[in-house]
Amino acid sequence: MSDAPSDYDQLTAAARQLVAIEDLLGAPFMPARPDSLPPVEPQAGPATGQALPGASMTREQKADALAEMDSREVKPCTKCALCKGRTNTVFGESDPDADIVFIGEGPGADEDATGRPFVGRAGALLTRMITAMGLSRQQVFITNIVKCRPPGNRSPAPDEVAACWDYLVRQLQIIAPKVIVTMGNPSTQTLLDTRVGITRMRGTFRELPEIGEALGGIAVMPTFHPAYILRQYTPDNRSKVWSDLQQVMAAVGLPAPDAK
Ligand code: URA
Ligand code: SF4
Repeated sequence: MSDAPSDYDQLTAAARQLVAIEDLLGAPFMPARPDSLPPVEPQAGPATGQALPGASMTREQKADALAEMDSREVKPCTKCALCKGRTNTVFGESDPDADIVFIGEGPGADEDATGRPFVGRAGALLTRMITAMGLSRQQVFITNIVKCRPPGNRSPAPDEVAACWDYLVRQLQIIAPKVIVTMGNPSTQTLLDTRVGITRMRGTFRELPEIGEALGGIAVMPTFHPAYILRQYTPDNRSKVWSDLQQVMAAVGLPAPDAK
């Protein structure tokens, strides 16, 4: 009898997931047969993960370490000129022990106003993408390569990314995720140290270079930025993103959505 509510919760979550997938694809969802899924590199985890500080920390210790970095260092940060125009810093959220970290470019107007990542229009699409994977925002970590809003929503400049870089590296060392999803050119090119564009980078797992101690080898899946998908809302772009996310699901052991 104690199973009833959890069955109900599971059904509701599954229904929400199917709606989000249809929404993302803009067409009735046809489940991919397992044998039609693209091959996934069996590198679900950092190659040198044992040396990561996060590998030996509890979720509570990770939460404390992140909260301390946010309140002592990021909130009062003046390391680059972006501090002048910000209303709020945007550290990132939610699960300090997440298997998957999503990384965008930088806060926009809505994020600057609220201090939370991806809460505007692009954020609503990211939330739908996460739901389609069978997860909630509470079960992943979402952040950006710079923690303060670039004026006029321009891309962050190289000196701003460099000034903010250490925070991202340490966030990843604490969280110790299995997979990083970089969204769009700035985060993909910065994390993977490449000038190759997102159209060619997406859809294939890449290895994170040694951007900080013990971080080398974490699986990185580059995909389109949700703001780009909103501008180019084509069936082709949406199915490419869904295919990228399905590879991420397989790599962290999330079940492919069932045919029902
Ligand atoms: N776009 C981003 O890259 N990050 C956000 O947090 C919001 C929009
Ligand atoms: Fe500091 Fe990063 Fe904000 Fe620049 S963008 S002021 S480095 S927190």
